[in-house]
Amino acid sequence: MTMNSYVFTPAQLPTLAVEGSDQRFPISRVFCLGRNYHWGDSQGQVRQAPIFFMKPASSVIPAQGDIAFPPLTEEFCHEIEFVIAIGEGGYDIPEARALEHVWGYAAGLDLTRRDLQMAAKSAGMPWDGAKAFDGSAPMTPIVPVGRCGHPDSGEVWLSVNGVERQRSNLHSQIWSVSEVISRLSQSITLCAGDLIMTGTPPGVDALHPGDLITAGIDGVGQLQVRVASR
Ligand code: MN
Repeated sequence: MTMNSYVFTPAQLPTLAVEGSDQRFPISRVFCLGRNYHWGDSQGQVRQAPIFFMKPASSVIPAQGDIAFPPLTEEFCHEIEFVIAIGEGGYDIPEARALEHVWGYAAGLDLTRRDLQMAAKSAGMPWDGAKAFDGSAPMTPIVPVGRCGHPDSGEVWLSVNGVERQRSNLHSQIWSVSEVISRLSQSITLCAGDLIMTGTPPGVDALHPGDLITAGIDGVGQLQVRVASR
């Protein structure tokens, strides 16, 4: 009897490239934050507790080349997001120590089947079908903190076929990186390799086959992908 007697070969660990290195960043889990910028309907409101949902680690793909048009949707939408890459885990991390747990940052797309999300919302059902499909989280290489610091400003933008659809700035985020890490770690024990997608500015809209998406977070990364045929 061998030590490792799996009944089949386990899936390969999902990883992302690291900017300026041949090493890979091993992905544990992907947490996503709901509304984290004012969309024009929430200005001046008191902050409500941040809402987190998840995507499987296997949904992370490099943000390059073609991205698949997912099944079961007529409203496939883009969301450009600032991504936190955790390098050191912890439970109940105080805000003042939160940045010590960050390994790096990336730019990512929280691709969404909006029609499924709206149906789930109105039925009071989970969002998983809307958010957790194959290839739903294209991301740039992760930039180590040693190269980009802890960005708290920098333009967040996305264009489709050369026409700008989303633009804001990291300083407009409702919840800071430290607050996001501290709050999330009050709910679960964060692990090295966890990624946190921190929400998208207004301007989310539908994508169609052949669309060319260019997007980025200034000071962190840029991406370009094309939506494949259905
Ligand atoms: Mn999002």
